[in-house]
Amino acid sequence: PVVTRIAPSPTGYMHIGTARTALFNWLYARGRGGRFLLRIEDTDRTRSTPEATAAILQGLAWLGLDHDGEVVSQFERSDRHAEVAHQLLAEGKAYKCFSTQDEIAAFRDAARAEGRSTLFRSPWRDADPSTHPDAPHAIRIKAPQDGTTVIRDRVQGDVTIRNDQLDDMILLRSDGTPVYMLAVVVDDHDMGVTHVIRGDDHLNNAARQMMIYDAMGWDVPVWAHIPLIHGPDGKKMSKRHGATGVDEYQKMGYPAAGMRNYLTRLGWSHGDDEYFTDEQARDWFDLDGIGKSPARFDVKKLENLCGRHIADAEDAALQQEIGAYLAATGQPALTTRQAQRLADAMYCLKDRARTFPELLEKAHFALTDRPIEPDGKAQQALQTVSDGILSELTPRLQTASWTRDDLDATLGAFAEEKGTKFGKLAGPLRAALAGRAVTPSVFDMMLVLGRDETVARLQDAAA
Ligand code: GLU
Repeated sequence: PVVTRIAPSPTGYMHIGTARTALFNWLYARGRGGRFLLRIEDTDRTRSTPEATAAILQGLAWLGLDHDGEVVSQFERSDRHAEVAHQLLAEGKAYKCFSTQDEIAAFRDAARAEGRSTLFRSPWRDADPSTHPDAPHAIRIKAPQDGTTVIRDRVQGDVTIRNDQLDDMILLRSDGTPVYMLAVVVDDHDMGVTHVIRGDDHLNNAARQMMIYDAMGWDVPVWAHIPLIHGPDGKKMSKRHGATGVDEYQKMGYPAAGMRNYLTRLGWSHGDDEYFTDEQARDWFDLDGIGKSPARFDVKKLENLCGRHIADAEDAALQQEIGAYLAATGQPALTTRQAQRLADAMYCLKDRARTFPELLEKAHFALTDRPIEPDGKAQQALQTVSDGILSELTPRLQTASWTRDDLDATLGAFAEEKGTKFGKLAGPLRAALAGRAVTPSVFDMMLVLGRDETVARLQDAAA
């Protein structure tokens, strides 16, 4: 069975690159009845913070990337990491190195001066243990010194590293703390991870991690090192290009389904498919479709996909997500009345809204109560009709049956009587009903608001 994982370091906010890596791993596992695990790589005690862990959990929750089992803390597994180092020591696959920082620096200086490789070669590798001093020491792995190491990567192909370029990596520091590289391998092995899908900034680590797998006789997972996300200028995505935090996208009001769709397509493709559902993504996602060159972040594409996901979403689900968006941005929750109006209006708000703020702007008519405060453009629109017109219209609306067809006929006839066109009345009507110039159609607003509220708003505007 497939087991994937995401192993973020909790040292800041959650980058969209991390979110995409999580998404790929989640899709790969979920599409194969596998498990998707979460490990927090919190071994760097000075940089890891609980807030950063919370941000990761929150980002995953927003994107709907549920993980299986407990959240694993890498730091809490330090004893196990040390145990593996000692096992390798006992088996003669690792050794105690008593070289001091100064000695290592001196070795490098000399190597540089003589034009040799500066890769540190410890004099303790083959030392007789009876010559060991009683002094602080690191535990180093005995790296292979000739031949090559091949990383069979599902994205990058076979990547060959000459073993004479690998040093005897430290496993346990002289203070007894395990190094990151050891922790990753031990954790992935113990957690039963079968597929490691992660950024290609970890490709070099893979060669060193292979040494530990080999020394322990453990199965190497399938590697898939994915190119990092770039900005539109082809440089690694950074704040210069716009928002990089997952939370920022949530706060800008992008729907999670649109974000998932976009991030899935960012560096992975399935023919010409751009827009797809979660089920399709799960069915289609594979390692073969991951591109070898970095994908460029394109906010227009994101917005277009988000618009389509909003249009296709179930009303109730959308309503719930809007509630979550308001909470995430510290805005007041909808009142019962507003929630009801929003639900009634949803059908005419979903089209052509790419974000929740855009949808809520269209919903303004439904969420505001009288008296409606017209904005500048709405005030101008109200001034394009003579004062009496809106109040003359209200008696007609009192008697019209409240259906789209009848309202259409009523307003059409009224406009004709006044020697004008409905189009000329639409602006002032929008302004009176919504206080805005850009709104859903006049009929949709009337149907959502109902007769009494519609008439009252027209009377207010005419007064
Ligand atoms: N902790 C690493 C990171 O946040 C990921 C390590 C891995 O996936 O193996 O970049």
